[in-house]
Amino acid sequence: MSNDIEQNLLHILQRIENACLKCNRNPYEVKLLLATKTVSAERIKVAFRAGQTLMGENRVQELKEKFEELKEIPHQKHFIGHLQTNKIKDILRYGVTCIQSLDRLNAAEKLQQRLEFENKTIDVLIQVNTSYEESKFGVEPENAVAFTKEIAIFDRLKIKGLMTIGLFSAETEKVRKCFKLLKEIQHKIIAENIPNVAMNELSMGMSGDLETAIEEGATIVRVGTAIFGQRIYPDSYYWNETKG
Ligand SMILES: *Cc1c(COP(=O)(O)O)cnc(C)c1O
Repeated sequence: MSNDIEQNLLHILQRIENACLKCNRNPYEVKLLLATKTVSAERIKVAFRAGQTLMGENRVQELKEKFEELKEIPHQKHFIGHLQTNKIKDILRYGVTCIQSLDRLNAAEKLQQRLEFENKTIDVLIQVNTSYEESKFGVEPENAVAFTKEIAIFDRLKIKGLMTIGLFSAETEKVRKCFKLLKEIQHKIIAENIPNVAMNELSMGMSGDLETAIEEGATIVRVGTAIFGQRIYPDSYYWNETKG
């Protein structure tokens, strides 16, 4: 079992490297984030022991359940799920250093308040709905610049870049369009020169489309299935909690 994870990791690292070589990028520019929803702490630790250091969870409940067991191995935790305002306190409690899924002013406000109270800061990425699907979270591409300006006033939030899920499709060029759009938005935001806003990170690309994402400029790829195997719950369970 742990053998599988190690093998899969090697394979993913190879895929990342090949994709980088193909587009003349340095593989060190691309971070691998382990998407660990439904994966036990024990299995996550196998990946950590194999040298991985970054994981992302979608649910606070899972952050909490795995927290104690994962503590013994140094690592970083990002939050990649839908951000519910009543869970902010817990997200901070369980050591999340970056929230990749910020897409509502109200959540940014609540986050700022809580961070002031705890005298902390946190990294954030703005999630953009590049596929325009009803079912997906994220700000609309047309609103991304305005949204960034709105939340840039919250000094406890360190804006580091953008995140998107993109379209699930076997048609690579349709998927690529989503990633290109995220890159375009990044450039637009950079051109605005907004104080308190860095745009170094583009979190995009998953098990099925990481090569395309890397070709379009991804700095973080989020990989679950290709490392840990199929999940028993459909992803909609995580992505559409409160949406139809
Ligand atoms: C589950 C998940 C991933 C990883 O998806 P895989 O197809 O299993 O690699 C990436 N990003 C988010 C936001 C996820 O919820």
